[in-house]
Amino acid sequence: MKKLFIILILVLAMLVGCAGKDTVNRKEASATKEDSVQHFEQQGPKDMETGSYVEMTEDPGKAEEDTSEEYSDTRGQQSTTWKSLSDSEEKTSESGKKRTGSGNRQFLVVIDPGHQQEQNKGLEPVGPGSSEKKQKVSSGTSGVSTGLDEYQLNLEVSLKLKEELEDRGYKVIMTRETNDVDISNVERAQIANRNHADAFIRIHANGDDNRSVHGMMTLCQTPHNPYNGKLYKKSRALAEAVLDKAVEKTDAKKLYIYETDTMSGINWAEVPCTIFEMGYMSNPREDEKMSTDSYQEKIVRGVADGIDAFLQGRKK
Ligand SMILES: [Zn+2]
Repeated sequence: MKKLFIILILVLAMLVGCAGKDTVNRKEASATKEDSVQHFEQQGPKDMETGSYVEMTEDPGKAEEDTSEEYSDTRGQQSTTWKSLSDSEEKTSESGKKRTGSGNRQFLVVIDPGHQQEQNKGLEPVGPGSSEKKQKVSSGTSGVSTGLDEYQLNLEVSLKLKEELEDRGYKVIMTRETNDVDISNVERAQIANRNHADAFIRIHANGDDNRSVHGMMTLCQTPHNPYNGKLYKKSRALAEAVLDKAVEKTDAKKLYIYETDTMSGINWAEVPCTIFEMGYMSNPREDEKMSTDSYQEKIVRGVADGIDAFLQGRKK
C-alpha cells in the first residue's frame, strides 16, 4: 500500500514537471514569433515607401502547404502587431481617425491598380511551383471613346478607393501609386501576402470586341484551385460583396462572378482576393462614364461598402 502511494506521488511529480516545461517552451516560442513579426513589420512599410518591391523572407512555395491552422495563426500574429501599431498611433496621431477593425485591430486592405505604363513580356509561373508560365504584366485595354489607358483609369479609381477606405478607418497598402513601375502580377500578390492583407482587391476595366457589352463583374479562384482552393469561400464572399455593393451604388449592369484558376495574381494570393472589373472600356457609354469623377466616386463607395460587408458583416 505504501509502495503504491509512493509510486502515485512520483507519477504526480512527473506530470507537474512536464506541464511546467511545456508552459516555458510555449512562452519561448511565442516570444520568438513576436520578434519575427516586429522585424517583418519594420521592413515591410519601409520597403513600400522606397518603391523597390524586393522579395523578402517569405517563401513563395509556402502557399501549397499552407494549412487553415497556419492561416488562423497568421491572424493572431497580425492582431498583436496592429494592436501595438494603433497604440503608438494614439499617442502621436493628430487626425483622430476612427479605427475600423475588430477590437483594437485595424483591418488591412491591399489595393492593386491593374497593369502599368509599359507591359512586361517576361514570363512567370502561373501558380507556386507551376511549370506553366504567363506574361508578367499585360498591356490592358483602352477607352474606345476617351482614349484613356486602362492602367491610368485603374490607378485613378484605386487612389480614390484608398482615400475612401482610409476615411473609413482601414489601413491601406497600394501595390503601385504611379504608372511608371514594373511590378509583375506575382509580385503584386506577394505584397498582399507578406503584409497579411485581410482583403486583396485588384482593380481592372474590361474590353470586348462587341461594343454593346457592358457591366460589372468580379473574379476569384475555383474551389478546386491547386494553389489556394482553400481560400475559395472567403474570396468568393469578397467577390460577391464587392460586386453587389458596387452595382447597388452605380446602377451598372450586374454581370457575374467569373471563377477561374488562370490568373497568376489570384493563384499566388495567400489571402482573400478578387479582381473587380468595373466596366467595359470598349462600350462608348460606359467608357465615358468611368472617366468621370462623379462615377468613380460612386464606384469606390460601392467597393468600400463591399469590403465593409465582407470584413465586418455590415449591411449598407
Ligand atoms: Zn485589366
